[in-house]
Amino acid sequence: MDPIKIIQESCVGCTLCETACPFGAVVMVDSETDDKKKIAEIDLNTCTLCGACVEACKFDAIEMEEKTVVPGVELSAYKDVWVFAEQHEGEIQTITYELLGEGRKLADDLGMDLCAVLIGSGIGEKAQDLIARGADKIYVVDKPELAHFQDEPYSAVLVDLINKIKPNVVLCGATVVGRSLISRVAIKIDAGLTADCTALSIDPETKNLLQTRPAFGGNIMATIEAPNHRPQMSTVRHKVMKEAEIVEGRQGEILIQEVAEELLKSRTKRLNFVPEEESTVNIAEADIIVSGGRGIGKPENFAMIRELAEVIGAGVGASRAAVDADWIPYSHQVGQTGKTVCPKMYIACGISGQIQHLAGMSSSEVIVAINKDPDAPIFQVATYGIVGDVNEVVPRITEEFRNVLGK
Ligand SMILES: Cc1cc2nc3c(=O)[nH]c(=O)nc-3n(C[C@H](O)[C@H](O)[C@H](O)COP(=O)(O)OP(=O)(O)OC[C@H]3O[C@@H](n4cnc5c(N)ncnc54)[C@H](O)[C@@H]3O)c2cc1C
Repeated sequence: MDPIKIIQESCVGCTLCETACPFGAVVMVDSETDDKKKIAEIDLNTCTLCGACVEACKFDAIEMEEKTVVPGVELSAYKDVWVFAEQHEGEIQTITYELLGEGRKLADDLGMDLCAVLIGSGIGEKAQDLIARGADKIYVVDKPELAHFQDEPYSAVLVDLINKIKPNVVLCGATVVGRSLISRVAIKIDAGLTADCTALSIDPETKNLLQTRPAFGGNIMATIEAPNHRPQMSTVRHKVMKEAEIVEGRQGEILIQEVAEELLKSRTKRLNFVPEEESTVNIAEADIIVSGGRGIGKPENFAMIRELAEVIGAGVGASRAAVDADWIPYSHQVGQTGKTVCPKMYIACGISGQIQHLAGMSSSEVIVAINKDPDAPIFQVATYGIVGDVNEVVPRITEEFRNVLGK
């Protein structure tokens, strides 16, 4: 039986379902029984069973089979909210604290424990930091082979723990490490994965994880559920969620986990780590960011952006247009396909403010926009707007800051 079908007698050819389908899977065709009538037809190869057409139909003319629980997945066996505790050279990365802050709320709503998984070498003492940030239990896998992140052993270890302990929710940073790790894990355990979430919550009725993320180029926010699989897995971008506060003296359990030797094997070998040369502050961590866009005119003009950044101790950001033009490396790109930043002040110079750029910076505390077009969309999100030529305004602001700051 088809998982979704049109009931020919009920369909009036109103096209509401065709309009509602985000995947172009519904088309109008001639009715077989009434040559004056058009009716809807669903292309099952394109349809994702999202149910948008069923909701849109006012005539009960579309029937979709109830989604059933995947055989063999005993949902109630899965407990607790897990956070993958990302570390680099033994230092816990701040994304982990952001995930613990959000994970704590989810665990409380579910009445479950918040747990962190800490994988590395000689990292056991860091477990207490995770407890202070809200975790109830820390699963530690401490082996020399795991000193540095490598896809194969890290994913094998995490899969092993998930299969043994069965968490309900697994959260991971949408970082270079997190993206590489968690997609492998999701595939191996046959779970869904929602990447780049901007909000997470628990459905009060079903207790499913509601995972919200931008979709269709950032034009809509989609909320995604995985009702039939466990664990429910999401990645979250850095700086989207608030870090958990430190509670000194907080108590929790540290559980050292043993894993089979063969899980630690890797077909790749880490030869060296070469940090990217960065003359100014890293934008993911910066309190102030000065960003340049196509409006600065030419690559040489990034010198003026860097100068302002240097005077006020800021990081240098860029729009994708500036990055695509090779004016500045990709690591500076802010936006949907670049970094998400949340500084105290974001100064946008010659950036129009397209939705994909805003997706990466609109939660900044104060936004200053400099643009010669008074109707540029960036002014709609700006706290302070300066209408003018960046090549005149930026050097003047820099000079003023230099005087005020005595630099
Ligand atoms: C799937 C997808 C993902 C994307 N991801 C990102 C992303 O991560 N980050 C991102 O930034 N973009 C992203 N984009 C691209 C985005 O849509 C815009 O094209 C881009 O942000 C435009 O960059 P811009 O504002 O520098 O350039 P423009 O849109 O060309 O704007 C330049 C601005 O500078 C102003 N200007 C020109 N000259 C001067 C001057 N002398 N003085 C002052 N102002 C001046 C103009 O008025 C204009 O507003 C993405 C697009 C897609 C489709």
